[in-house]
Amino acid sequence: MEQGLAVAKKINTEELNARFEKEQPETIIRWAVETFRSKIAMTSSFQSESVALLHMASLIDVNLPVLFLETGFHFKETLAFKNEVIRRFGLKNVIELKADPKRREELMKEYHNEPYRHNPDLCCQINKVEPLDRALKGYDAWISGIRRSQSKTRRDIQIVEEYEEKGRNMFKINPLANSTSGDIRWYIEQHQLPKHELAGMGYLSIGCWPCTKPVQPGDDERSGRWAGRDKTECGIHTFKAKKEKPKEKEIKEEGSGI
Ligand code: SF4
Repeated sequence: MEQGLAVAKKINTEELNARFEKEQPETIIRWAVETFRSKIAMTSSFQSESVALLHMASLIDVNLPVLFLETGFHFKETLAFKNEVIRRFGLKNVIELKADPKRREELMKEYHNEPYRHNPDLCCQINKVEPLDRALKGYDAWISGIRRSQSKTRRDIQIVEEYEEKGRNMFKINPLANSTSGDIRWYIEQHQLPKHELAGMGYLSIGCWPCTKPVQPGDDERSGRWAGRDKTECGIHTFKAKKEKPKEKEIKEEGSGI
């Protein structure tokens, strides 16, 4: 028997995407938060541009769960930036996700404390994909800050995407999908948001320190990530099987107020 559920909502990703292409990100976030209520979370790496999405979300609900992957390899500047953003925006529910301690210990041992150098795919799998996968089991939807213009691998993302999640459906919301880096910079300036210390030093996309370099002029925003390798994604945006054709699906919404 389903618990505490009173209303079933129909999600038609095709219709929503047509509509949301013309909407502001704030409108999309509000729709997502009001639709999924306690069953939605946002992921954030607290890098320089993350601050725009976090700010938009904080104006809608400071209690929205924000999932942060604590890999143990972040720049100290990122951790300081995270604390500053939490304080400034009053975020109440930032949750750190960590690797399974045993898996991480074995990984570090096998690769002499440098798994990112010898096996970055496995390093990302254990430190990012697995903890996120575990955490998402508690949600029906998640909000991500990825954008089409960040890289070739992201240019086909949709604003609302539907995934298979072991017998149930899960939705991923990308409110900034059609925003550019210029749009984000404009938003940051307009709202006078805090700046990541590395942002002015050529770091356009900031991840773990062993796998992040400044970007060369004219290159993809994400070209500084795993530079010199074939790797372009850590896996958290690609590990779920996306549905090829959007379908109308029923989701359950908590509460009986509507
Ligand atoms: S980005 Fe690099 S250091 Fe971070 S989890 Fe992936 S391989 Fe490891």
